[in-house]
Amino acid sequence: MKEYLNYIEGKWVPAKSGKTLESRNPANGALIGVVPDSGTEDVNDAVDAAARAFEKWRKFSAPKRAEIIVRAVEILRARKQLLGEMLTREMGKVIQEARGDVQEAIDMGMYMAGEGRRLNGLLVPSELPNKWGMAVRDPLGVVGIITPWNFPIAVPSWKIFPALVCGNTLVWKPAEDTPVMAVEFVKILEEAGVPPGVINLVTGYGEPAGAALVDHPQVRLISFTGSTETGRLIAMKCAQNLKRVSLEMGGKNAIIVLDDADVDLAIEGILWSAFGTSGQRCTACSRVIAHQAIKKELLDKLAARASKLRLGDGLLPTTDVGPVINQEAVEKIDAYTQIARKEGAAVIVGGARAMDGALAQGFFYAPTIFDNVVPTMRVAQEEIFGPSLSVIRADSQEQAIAINNQTNYGLSTSIYTTNVNRAFEAMRDITTGLLYVNAGTIGSEVQLPFGGTRGTGNGHREGGGPVVLETFTEWKTIYVDYSGRLQRAQIDTDELSSRIVR
Ligand code: NAD
Repeated sequence: MKEYLNYIEGKWVPAKSGKTLESRNPANGALIGVVPDSGTEDVNDAVDAAARAFEKWRKFSAPKRAEIIVRAVEILRARKQLLGEMLTREMGKVIQEARGDVQEAIDMGMYMAGEGRRLNGLLVPSELPNKWGMAVRDPLGVVGIITPWNFPIAVPSWKIFPALVCGNTLVWKPAEDTPVMAVEFVKILEEAGVPPGVINLVTGYGEPAGAALVDHPQVRLISFTGSTETGRLIAMKCAQNLKRVSLEMGGKNAIIVLDDADVDLAIEGILWSAFGTSGQRCTACSRVIAHQAIKKELLDKLAARASKLRLGDGLLPTTDVGPVINQEAVEKIDAYTQIARKEGAAVIVGGARAMDGALAQGFFYAPTIFDNVVPTMRVAQEEIFGPSLSVIRADSQEQAIAINNQTNYGLSTSIYTTNVNRAFEAMRDITTGLLYVNAGTIGSEVQLPFGGTRGTGNGHREGGGPVVLETFTEWKTIYVDYSGRLQRAQIDTDELSSRIVR
């Protein structure tokens, strides 16, 4: 059995309590390893180490910090296949997607390494003569990073790379279901040359390890990705301590298919978005809003394709859909199938745990489609986070958009139409963080902002684009007066103009 450790101030150490937790393969229950089940003391040690390392790291120049990120990217690239296989074993997603998880980190690393020679500030003219005005980005200090299990490498990379390039030090508490991938990622950062104390890893549960990080007074930012329920709790705690908090949370994403759409193209997008990663993406499509004119054709074809998807271990080349993460997830997904039935929806594909042969050893749920769903049903409103898709009928584009906008989440929406005017109307009227035209709800790229509206986020963006720097830096506005006398800005403007005229 393999034992993994926390990483604090450049040393690999067990939890002070000696407690451990197990990581198991969701496809077959095999034990992958044990990791520290950390507590408050371990988190405190990690934050202290990060605080000690901060002074030196912030003065290490940004281009040099970026060079370390480039080295990490090179290692990630060289180990992509190996890391992908490990990731499939620990988290379950099929191997191509697992390699994609690593690829996202490579892309994010490349993008953020570029920021090492940019980190743009502002330089503007002063209203006074012989005076210079500018604003620069300062690091925050110690950053707390809390991540989910569904993207064990990609999501942490969206936080770790920008935090590092901006000059912050950090403590990372990864999800309890994928701690081994976190250890592997930190090993790579260590190998790339991140100095001791700059990155610290503390594995364990949300309570007590995650909570201790949120509560720690020296942590200046909590960058969290996970469920809306946990995010709300974290935001309330951070508010009390006036701590910055960036939240990326749940989704209830929809694909709208209009009557003029290319239905076959839409079906490809729906299958990938709803059943890829077994529906366990924050951007997974869990609602199809279909125009009544094409709904029957769409549903017939979609049901035929979905029922042929092959479940299995994500490492097997024959597998289309891997397991879901754990027993609790299977139970939650099945509970929603029962809720759908009770509320009057029709289960037209799937609707049960898959138990044939080897599948019985893992947590597999058959790709499931609910028909006759109305927008007020719980399955149309609540995040299920599994391979469950609700099909809702709409009679017009306006109605379809209204249905999309009426949930507590607002992460990703897509619309299929061949009419450019309708596409632009939808781009104007859909309220969402990510919008796709003639593509599924999945497919963001690191050079643009990623994040959601309403219950999905709290206004910050991550995963890409220069706006991510706003989360990880503090603005410092600097004025330099080289006139050699007292000059007063924004007052005495009459005196100022008379002086200039003189
Ligand atoms: P979760 O909220 O259960 O856990 C996320 C992380 O928070 C874990 O590391 C967990 O240990 C920690 N945590 C739990 N309770 C805590 C507490 N009280 N204090 C501090 N930390 C705590 O979410 P999950 O099940 O791991 O992930 C699935 C969820 O993540 C889904 O809702 C999904 O939509 C969301 N997600 C969102 C995005 C996005 O970018 N919007 C991306 C991926 C996943």
